Amino acid sequence: MLNLFSKHSKMLMAGMSLFTLAYTTQCQNSNNQSNHSIKSSSAMKLNPLTENEKHVILDKGTERPFTGEYTDNFEKGTYICKQCDNPLYQSSSKFHSGCGWPSFDDEIKDAVKKLPDADGRRTEIVCAKCGGHLGHVFYGEGFTNIDTRHCVNSISMKFVPEQSSTVTTQKAIFAGGCFWGVEYYFQHAKGVTKTQVGYIGGTKENPTYKEVCSHTTGHVEAMEITFDPKQTTYEELAKLFFEIHDPTQTNGQGNDIGPQYLSEIFYFDATQKETAEKLINQLETKGYKIATKLRPTEKFWPAEDYHQQYYEKGGGTPYCHKRVSRF
Ligand SMILES: [Zn+2]
Repeated sequence: MLNLFSKHSKMLMAGMSLFTLAYTTQCQNSNNQSNHSIKSSSAMKLNPLTENEKHVILDKGTERPFTGEYTDNFEKGTYICKQCDNPLYQSSSKFHSGCGWPSFDDEIKDAVKKLPDADGRRTEIVCAKCGGHLGHVFYGEGFTNIDTRHCVNSISMKFVPEQSSTVTTQKAIFAGGCFWGVEYYFQHAKGVTKTQVGYIGGTKENPTYKEVCSHTTGHVEAMEITFDPKQTTYEELAKLFFEIHDPTQTNGQGNDIGPQYLSEIFYFDATQKETAEKLINQLETKGYKIATKLRPTEKFWPAEDYHQQYYEKGGGTPYCHKRVSRF
C-alpha cells in the first residue's frame, strides 16, 4: 500500500492542502438522522459506549482529523466494530491517504453497509451487523488499484493485533471465577509454558485485589496463559477452560458471587474468537445454556504476587473448581 501511495505522491503533494481541506469538509458534514433499522431488527449484545463514542457511532458525528487512535497504525491485525465486535477491515486493506482518518480500500466481505448520506452527495458506511456509523466511502481518487477509500472514524473501531506466526509462543486469557482455581488446572496442562493471574476488562489502571473486590473498577479475575502452539492448541486450552468451571452460571462461579467472577474469554484474534464460538455452539447443541462472554482482549494487569500459583505454593486443591467432561 505504501508503494501505491508513493506512486501517487506527486499528485498528492501538489494538492495536499486543498485535498485535506476538502476531506475535512466532506467528513465533517455529518447529519443526525440516525438509521436504526438494522439495530432494532435484532436483539444482539452491544458494548456500552462512552459519550464521545455515542456522538460518532449513534449520532453520526465525526472525530477531528489527525486525532484518532488508528490513523497511523499499520500493525497487522483486524479492525472490529466498537459497538458489536463485528470484524470490519483487515490491516492489509489499510493505506496512508493523508486525510487524517484511517483509510481502507476494501472491507471484509459483507461487513459494511453503504447508504446514501442525508446530504445527497456522499455515501455513508455503517456496520452491517449493528448499524453503527463508521464514516464515508469515496471512489475514483486513485489511491490504490481498488480505487476506493473507506474514510473511517478510529473511535468507531477497535484494533485486534494479529499474533505473529514467527513467534514461538501464543497467549490466551480466560476468566472463570476465582483465579487461584483456574490457574491450578492450567499451570501443568500440556504445552502451557507460563500462567499468570490478574485483572482485565475494567476501567482503572493497575487495580488492586481490594479494588476489584469492591466492584468499583469493572475488572474480572482472569488468567493469562502463554503456550507453545506446537505442543497444544488454543482449542484444547479453551475446551479445558469450559470443563474446569461452570460456563452456565450467570452471576459468578460456585459460591463466589459477583461481577469479578463472571465467565469470559478475552480473544487475541479472529481465529481465537471463532474457536471459542465453535465450542460454545457445540456445548449449546448439547443443551448447556452458556453464559460465557467473548470480548477482544485488552490490557491485562497481573495480580499481586501472593495470588500467583496460589495452590502450588500453599498446597491444597481448589474449593471452587473441578474438572467435568463436557465435550
Ligand atoms: Zn457493529
